[in-house]
Amino acid sequence: MQEKRALITGITGQDGAYLSRFLLGKGYKVYGIIARRGTDTRWRLRELSVIDHVQLIDADLIDLSSLVRTLEKTQAEEVYNLAAQSFVATSWDQPLLTADVTGVGALRILEAIRIVNPKTRFYQASTSEMFGKIQRPVQNENTPFYPRSPYAVSKLFAHWSTVNYRESFNLHASSGILFNHESPLRGIEFVTRKVTDAVARIRCGLQQELRLGNIDAKRDWGFAGDYVEAMWQMMQEHEPDNYVIATGKTTSVREMCDIAFKYVGLKMEDHLVIDPNLYRPAEVDILLGDASKAYKRFGWKPKTSLESLVHMMVDADINRVKHEPQPAINGTRHP
Ligand code: NDP
Ligand code: GDP
Repeated sequence: MQEKRALITGITGQDGAYLSRFLLGKGYKVYGIIARRGTDTRWRLRELSVIDHVQLIDADLIDLSSLVRTLEKTQAEEVYNLAAQSFVATSWDQPLLTADVTGVGALRILEAIRIVNPKTRFYQASTSEMFGKIQRPVQNENTPFYPRSPYAVSKLFAHWSTVNYRESFNLHASSGILFNHESPLRGIEFVTRKVTDAVARIRCGLQQELRLGNIDAKRDWGFAGDYVEAMWQMMQEHEPDNYVIATGKTTSVREMCDIAFKYVGLKMEDHLVIDPNLYRPAEVDILLGDASKAYKRFGWKPKTSLESLVHMMVDADINRVKHEPQPAINGTRHP
C-alpha cells in the first residue's frame, strides 16, 4: 500500500516536531515547510531525531504561490497548519505581521488547497486564546469567543475561515481548539519553559532570580505529545468539525512555578521577582477546557499530569544547562 503523505506548516515549532514523530511512527511520508529567516530553527527536529526522516521545503505562509507549489509537489492528503506568529505578547508589538501570518496565512493555505486539490484534508491550529475574556466558566465548542490580543483576533479569523471553507466548498477542514500545551521543546518565551529554564539555571548556580509578570493568571496546561495525537485523530474522522482539546484542570502560573522550584528542592519565594513590565495590555485571566466531545467522538483524553510535565521540562532543562552551556541565540538557547 502506498504511504500516506502529510504536510506540516510550522514543522520546526514545538507541535510540528512532535507531530512529525507521531506521523512517522504511523508510516506517513512527512513534508514540512520552512520559512528561511537566516537562522537555523531545526533544533527541535534534531532533538526528536526526526530531521533525517522528514522532507523540508522552502515556503512561507505569506507567499501563496509557494504554498500552491508545495501542495503540487507533495500531493499531500493531509495538511496540518501549525505555522503562526504564536506568542501572544509579541502580537501587540507586531499586530500586522501576526494578522498576516497567523490569520490570513491560514486562508492562503485554504485557497491553495482549493486551487490544487479540494479533497486534501486540512487541520487548523486554533487556540483557547479565542475564548479570551471567558463567557462561560468552562469552555467547549459552543462557548462564545472574546479574543483579547491581536494573536487571538488573528486566530479567530483563521478559525472562521476554516469553518467557512468547510461550509462553502465542502472541504474536509477541521479546527482543533487546543488549550495551552507545553513540553521540553516549548519556546523559551512562554511562561512554563521560562520557569523551567530559570529553575535549572538557578539550581546549577548560573542565575539568581526569575522575573515574571501576572502570576495569578490560570491556564489549562497539557503535554504537547498528547495533543498532537488529537490533531491526527480529528483528521481521520469521516466529517470535519471543531474540537476542544484540554485537560479539564486549571492552575495558576504561581502554582506551576511552585511545582518547578519544589522539584529541585528550592523555594520559589527566594528567587521570584514580579516585574510589572511583563504585564500584558489585556490579560486572559483564566482558561478551563471541556474536551468531552473529542473523547466521545474518537476517545481522546490527556495522559500526562501537570506535575509530570513540569518535572519532565525541569529535567530536560537541567540536562541542557549541564551539557549545552551556550549563549542565547534569538531568544532560544538551542541553536
Ligand atoms: P511554535 O511557535 O513553536 O511554532 C510556530 C511555527 O510557525 C514555527 O515552525 C515557525 O517557524 C513557523 N512560522 C512562523 N512564521 C511562519 C511563516 N511566515 N511561514 C511559515 N512558517 C512560519 O508554535 P507551537 O508549536 O507551540 O504551536 C503550533 C500552532 O498551534 C501555532 O499555530 C500556535 O499558535 C497554535 N497553538 C499553540 C498552543 C500551545 O499551547 N502551544 C495552543 C493553541 C494553539 P520558525 O521555527 O522558522 O520560526
Ligand atoms: P499564552 O497563554 O499563550 O499567553 O501563554 P504564555 O505562556 O505566554 O502565558 C501564560 C500566562 O502567563 C499569561 O497569562 C501571562 O500573562 C502569564 N505570565 C506571567 N509572567 C509571564 C512571563 O514572564 N512570560 C510569559 N510568557 N507569560 C507570563
